[in-house]
This record gives sequence, C-alpha cells and structure tokens, in this order.
Amino acid sequence: MTDRTIYLDHAATTPTDEKVLREMLPYFSDAYGNASSLHRVGRRAIAAVDAAREKVAQAIGALPSEIYFTSCGTESDNWAIAGVAEAYADKGRHILSSSVEHPAVMRSLARLEARGYEVTYLPVDRSGAVSVEAAVAAMRSDTVLVTIMTANNEVGSIQPVAEIFAAARARGIVTHTDAVQAIGSIPVNVGELNADLLSLSAHKFYGPKGVGALYLRKGVRIKGLLLGGEQERSLRGGTYNTPAIVGLGAAIEAATASQGENARHLASLKERFVAALREIPFTSLNGGSPSLPGTVNVTFSGVRNSELLFALDLEGIAASSGSACSSGSVEPSHVLTAMGLTKEEVGSSVRFSFGRENTEEVVDRTVAALKDILARLRADRDLFLQKKNDRKDV
Ligand SMILES: *Cc1c(COP(=O)(O)O)cnc(C)c1O
Repeated sequence: MTDRTIYLDHAATTPTDEKVLREMLPYFSDAYGNASSLHRVGRRAIAAVDAAREKVAQAIGALPSEIYFTSCGTESDNWAIAGVAEAYADKGRHILSSSVEHPAVMRSLARLEARGYEVTYLPVDRSGAVSVEAAVAAMRSDTVLVTIMTANNEVGSIQPVAEIFAAARARGIVTHTDAVQAIGSIPVNVGELNADLLSLSAHKFYGPKGVGALYLRKGVRIKGLLLGGEQERSLRGGTYNTPAIVGLGAAIEAATASQGENARHLASLKERFVAALREIPFTSLNGGSPSLPGTVNVTFSGVRNSELLFALDLEGIAASSGSACSSGSVEPSHVLTAMGLTKEEVGSSVRFSFGRENTEEVVDRTVAALKDILARLRADRDLFLQKKNDRKDV
C-alpha cells in the first residue's frame, strides 16, 4: 500500500500488523517442524500452536480444548453448519437463521435445504437487526441449530445474539454465531453470547489471511470436517499451518487488548464522517444502532455505486459496495434488500469501513473527494437526462 492510498475497506480485510508478521516469520524458517512430529523441531512448532490456541481461547472466554484451527472464516462457518446439522440429524432438520448472513453461512444453508432441511430466515428491520421475539417464535421442537451473525459485514448491524441464544439454549437448540466482523471492534465472549459455536478469521483483525478458528463448546457434537491425521482431536486433519496459527494468536491477543481503544477511535472517525455526509444532499445512511464502530453504509441517490467506487479509486480511496465476495457479481446486496432498500437504492450504496490506521485527516480528504465526485457524476446524469428530454421534445 502506498502512503497515498486511503484504505477504507477494513470490513473486507485488514493489513497484517508488522508485529504479528515478525512473530510469524521464524515458523517459516528456523521452526519449520511439523507440529505433529515428536522430535524437537516438531515440539517447537506444537508449542507455538498450543500458545496460539490459548490466546484465542483467552480472547473469547473459552477453554483451549474448545478451539479448532481452520483455514478461514468461511471454513469455520461451513463446518459449524454442516457439522452440527449432520451430528444432530436424528433430532430434527429445521435451522433458524437470518436473511442478512454472510454468503459462507447462506450457501451452507442452501446446500442443506437442497438435502431436505428446512431453514427459516428471519427478516430484519430497517436498521438491519432481527427481532428477538420473532426468533423465539420461530423455534420449533425439530430445530437443531440457530445460526445468527454477531455483527453484519455490509452495514455493521449488531444482532441481539445473546438474548436469542439464551432462548435457544433453554430449548436444547445448538447455537452458532459468525463473529468474523466483531472481533477487535466489540467485546466478544462466548459465555455472554450463549454461543455453542463461534467463527472467527484472523485477516479481519490485522492477522494473516488464510487462517481462522471455530469455537466448539465442550459437549456439543459436530461431524468431523477433514479426514486425515489426528490434528484438532481428529475432527480437522491436515498439517498445522504453524506460521498462520501463530499470526492468529498474536493478532487476536492484540485485538482484544486494544478493543476498547480501537472502538473509541473508530467511533470518532465514523461520527466525523457521518456528520459530513449529512451535509451532502440526496444521501442517506443505512443501518442503525447498535452497530459496529467503524462501518458506514451510505446510499448516494442517483449515482451508480460502481461509478462512484471507480472514481474514488482513481483518487486513491478504497471503499466497497458491500461484501467483497459479491461485489464482482451483478447480484444486488441481499443484506440491503432485506433491509427494505429498493433495487435502485441498493445499486447506489457504498460501504466505508474504517481501521485503526485511519485518521481524521483521511476522513476529511475522503469527504472532499466525495463531494467533488458526486457533483461531477450528478451533473453528468442531469445533462444526460436533459439531453434525453430535449430529444423527446423534437
Ligand atoms: C470476511 C467474512 C467471512 C469470511 O471469512 P474469510 O476468512 O474471508 O473466509 C465470514 N463472515 C463474515 C461476517 C465476514 O465478514
């Protein structure tokens, strides 16, 4: 990243912290052992894996034996949903979720539906939140799993997970939450959330890409994912990616230690940005409260988000139309659609997600660039409409 780049897409990914990277490096070279080997080269690697497991457990209020390393947040979500559905198939085939989940959850659920499972997708209100009452009312005797994200990646809405999961638990239903966006931004504790399973991913909190974890509460059943060696209690075989796991441990330790401070910093940037956006005509904010401190989703009426993002990129400002996973496709955001935005509004919406290295100056430069670009794009559009009307008059 050059210094001129203004990176406002931290919900898509974050840069790996240099301290985290430095901790990882020895495990590519000197300490290259297979963490499952019994000799001293291997023992050094397993010691690092165990230390990282303790850090992840500590960060979310779990036991080290309840942490399973995976290759990413997507894998954690896929495994949690398919693995619990299969392990509890004798009990029932109904799953409760929301209509704003990440594609890693949505597509896992769709696959189960194709296999005869029934999924209830709870609607969300204009702020992007599900209702506790509606969730409780949708729980049935054959419900085996409730999976609801802690915080949304496109608009930042924080779901009432703790209340919903308490009700689920009282009914003996297994609970899973995708906390990938939440770690480092808001407090995340599996006990407070009443979560039996929780997904997280290192690259969303200044760790490396390609490593995540699944928390699985002791006593909760899951079908194994990768069949091979005895890694991860024989549920997820495969040689440990020691450098990445070390990076995850270092990153989550730093992210939880600085969570409060980070949240205050992000919230003040967001407040400054939102105050400036309110001065721009035909601009509306999506989402409401409670929401992640650093995520802002905005609709700029009359402007195509692809054109706006392209113009911002030319100015060196990186933002996104929402989930990076679907921005390459023409499918309109299912999250904004579920919140009640029209197709036109969805196509005019942009997500800005702040990170710890962003400053007030960066916010001000972004606002100035936005004003210029919007004036230009809207003038172009007015000229176009004018010409069209002129032609009609002829
Ligand atoms: C990024 C993200 C994922 C996917 O994590 P990867 O590690 O990129 O696979 C899942 N859920 C949410 C909410 C995310 O933001």
